[in-house]
Amino acid sequence: MSENFDVVVIGGGPGGYVAAIRCAQLGLNTVCIDKQTNAKGASSLGGTCLNVGCIPSKALLDSSEQFHKLNHQFAAHGIHAQSVSIDVEKMQSRKNGIVKSLTSGIAQLFKANKVKFIHGTAKVVADHTVTVVNSDGELTDTFTAQHIILAPGSTPVELKSMPFNHNTIVDSTGALNFDRVPERIGIIGAGVIGLELGSVWNRLGADVIILEAMDKFLAAADPQVSKEAARQFKKQGLDIRLGAMVQSVKEESGKVTLTYTKGDSEHQEVVDRVIVAVGRRPATDGLLSSDCGVITDDRGFIEVDDDCRTSIENVWAVGDAVRGPMLAHKSSEEGVAVAERIAGGHGHVDFNTVPWVIYTAPEIAWVGKTEAELKEEGIEFKSGSFPFAATGRAKAMEEPIGFVKVVADKNTDRILGVHMVGPHVSELISECVLAMEFRASSEDLARTIHAHPTLSEAVHEAALAVEKRAIHKVG
Ligand code: FAD
Ligand code: NAD
Repeated sequence: MSENFDVVVIGGGPGGYVAAIRCAQLGLNTVCIDKQTNAKGASSLGGTCLNVGCIPSKALLDSSEQFHKLNHQFAAHGIHAQSVSIDVEKMQSRKNGIVKSLTSGIAQLFKANKVKFIHGTAKVVADHTVTVVNSDGELTDTFTAQHIILAPGSTPVELKSMPFNHNTIVDSTGALNFDRVPERIGIIGAGVIGLELGSVWNRLGADVIILEAMDKFLAAADPQVSKEAARQFKKQGLDIRLGAMVQSVKEESGKVTLTYTKGDSEHQEVVDRVIVAVGRRPATDGLLSSDCGVITDDRGFIEVDDDCRTSIENVWAVGDAVRGPMLAHKSSEEGVAVAERIAGGHGHVDFNTVPWVIYTAPEIAWVGKTEAELKEEGIEFKSGSFPFAATGRAKAMEEPIGFVKVVADKNTDRILGVHMVGPHVSELISECVLAMEFRASSEDLARTIHAHPTLSEAVHEAALAVEKRAIHKVG
């Protein structure tokens, strides 16, 4: 016998669990099904983000940054420490503790909001019906629902030429769990994961070589931001090789030989670990029965309209498994918007104001369009930038690196994009997202009082610089 719900949510990541909680808050009888397990085989809500993504990577980034600062930056403050060492086991158990507390927090939120949780693998079959099987493949539940929200997320792309062996050739999950610092790491892909996890292990003492197929570094970012970031990463010892195409991989006695071409020449590197970080793909294999009617594209993404409606009425899809950036906050916003729509409200996600953050040191953050994109679209713009080196706070912190750039429409002065590289820009970007959300002009930002001394003064001065009236900048 099947149990009926107002809403069945498949996936307990930032898209699914947030959608389920919002549905329940809106009075809808909701069940969420998620298959993720922890190392002990128990259910672990929160999806990629909490289990093997945003949270564990930020925990390791923080630990490794403290270690790096102690080794390389504290001396400038007159602080000296002898025999500094890293206890990888302790670092990993701190990270695992954070993951455990946050994932079990979602289970508590479900209880508090009366969301029913089922641990298992779900499949959408015909007639708004969802079946669930356990890890042995046995059918445990059948649900019918007025609405189904699909939030299955994504998994790492595996390259045919170097399949994961989860030992010497790993994906991001493997790279979050090394039990010691490898001597030499080869990373395939200089994208977000390659740079963040490359930074972690480089700061802890590994030699890190990143092989990137494209000729451009961080092509999606503002070119000046990418240039400054590349300069800083090089100083830190990250060896990023652009236009590098891996041709073959050979494993022998625990070492991996990577053969790659760069232009016309062939090169080899012998490393202890390879991290493959060449993107993620939608986790839709086995999710949809052939007669359920939900359409996916040739890469497996679930096809949706602007409002996350699939090809079948009252079946919705959100997050990494649909078009748009693969970001936790984008997934969650879509989840909330769909819940509101189901309850008869007006859900809304503004794709023009989705912030991007890369949590390296310096951090990189942006929102809106780059100058290159605006040029391509024929939109006239003006821009102003301001270096952190000219702010008292960044100097006091011993981190006078990077800058903020504000880009505004030449005629209306409306802010069209903000691009940053520097200390704590992951936090500074929110002010700019809000400004864009409120359709602010660069003058609005320039007229806003920013506390002194703060890093946010760089945002203020960059806005002033749009009209060439920055106070603390020469020229
Ligand atoms: P997911 O989080 O992938 O959740 C989907 C859930 O559905 C999973 O638990 C999965 O097991 C479950 N599921 C799938 N199929 C089924 C099924 N058939 N039945 C039952 N359950 C199913 N994004 C950021 O915004 N900021 C960051 O700092 C950041 N850092 C990252 C670092 C790393 C190393 C990685 C890998 C990713 C990072 N991301 C980050 C991306 C972020 O994790 C994803 O964008 C986000 O988790 C997507 O949310 P989602 O709910 O769409 O999918
Ligand atoms: P990515 O798309 O950011 O980067 C992949 C990189 O690999 C690209 O630069 C690409 O040109 C390169 N590449 C592809 N094939 C290659 C090959 N055969 N050889 C060499 N290089 C190759 O993907 P990712 O770093 O795997 O991250 C996946 C997703 O996870 C991202 O899209 C991002 O949305 C999300 N994520 C976000 C954050 C964050 O918000 N801070 C952190 C980690 C991950």
